[in-house]
Amino acid sequence: QTVFIPREIDANEPRVAASPDTVKRLVSLGLDVIVEAGAGTLSRIPDADFAKAGASIGKAADAGKADVVLKVRRPTEAELKAYKNGAAVIAIMDPYGNEPAVAALAKAGVTAFAMEFMPRITRAQVMDVLSSQANLAGYQAVIDGAAEYDRALPMMMTAAGTVPAAKIFIMGVGVAGLQAIATARRLGAVVTATDVRPAAKEQVASLGAKFIAVEDEEFKQAETAGGYAKEMSKEYQAKQAALTAEHIAKQDIVITTALIPGRPAPKLVSAAMLASMKPGSVIVDLAVERGGNVEGAVAGKVVTTANDVKIVGHLNMAGRVAASASLLYAKNLVAFLETMIDKDAKAIAINRDDELVKATMLTDAGKVVHPNFANSAA
Ligand code: NAD
Repeated sequence: QTVFIPREIDANEPRVAASPDTVKRLVSLGLDVIVEAGAGTLSRIPDADFAKAGASIGKAADAGKADVVLKVRRPTEAELKAYKNGAAVIAIMDPYGNEPAVAALAKAGVTAFAMEFMPRITRAQVMDVLSSQANLAGYQAVIDGAAEYDRALPMMMTAAGTVPAAKIFIMGVGVAGLQAIATARRLGAVVTATDVRPAAKEQVASLGAKFIAVEDEEFKQAETAGGYAKEMSKEYQAKQAALTAEHIAKQDIVITTALIPGRPAPKLVSAAMLASMKPGSVIVDLAVERGGNVEGAVAGKVVTTANDVKIVGHLNMAGRVAASASLLYAKNLVAFLETMIDKDAKAIAINRDDELVKATMLTDAGKVVHPNFANSAA
């Protein structure tokens, strides 16, 4: 059976869904692997490296031979036209708000898996694309923030005088925020961080940063059973805004990462807060693709406010370190695909009762099957 890895057609997507290591693994499992020519170029993986690992180098139309397509982004309708009826497609499907595209997957007859729905259980940690990519995004947010900031980050005591350490504030300390704290600390900044989940407090302290939050009764209940944040009440948001307003005016770089699954990103930084910041300070909004945490952030742009604060709204932060991101993403995919391979028959055998399959399968046999999208027409 054949696995196909295309070149991503989205102009904002430099990542690729395979690495030489994962190709080797697929070949060793008895599968034929075709990688589209140039698929790895933007992730610094030449075709020759894929070929050396055992893949054949093909063209886009080879998608039609595939039993499994491994991708970064959800296939477009044009791409789907080439796929075999019944082929499995594994990617980041970004299904919320894109119900017509989910219906199109069903209509194309593919069995589509949304990697972002992988349950956060021990067995699936190696398949957790949200973590592998958010970790790099958190790192890159600090690097991009530092690049836009025109002062040094660490304290420097020199014969010519002392440069003070930059103050960096991280808002939202899930996977991305924790890596942002670690990166900012490595660069010598003085780091504070906030979140609405009490579990974050200890994690922030363990990374050597100071935790700042409204720690009332609601805060104590803010974490869902799945480990995510709830949407907070208006009263909590007002208290949080007051605390943020006072703190943010003293910061040099702010990184915002706050997300609530299936909801727009919470607005944490208002225009008034931006106006209170010092000229030359920088905000990086990692939530910009989900509506943004910062008022005035523009997806895909760096904007400068009237008082000279830069708001960085880069798209696809993990894609800005594509060579690293692709290696981890490819590993996540293969770990999942392996659970669906009958090793004796050397063939794909999807167990529809497996909890990982149930959690991630969006469409199957012409229908939208995921419970969260039960109403999407197919
Ligand atoms: P996320 O990307 O959904 O959100 C980022 C952060 O924003 C979260 O920490 C969230 O609490 C915070 N946030 C939401 N609303 C906020 C607000 N109004 N103000 C401030 N902060 C706000 O989160 P994530 O990175 O996916 O992590 C979510 C949880 O999952 C964490 O507890 C993390 O440790 C856990 N996790 C578990 C596993 C695993 O067990 N395999 C893997 C990864 C993450």
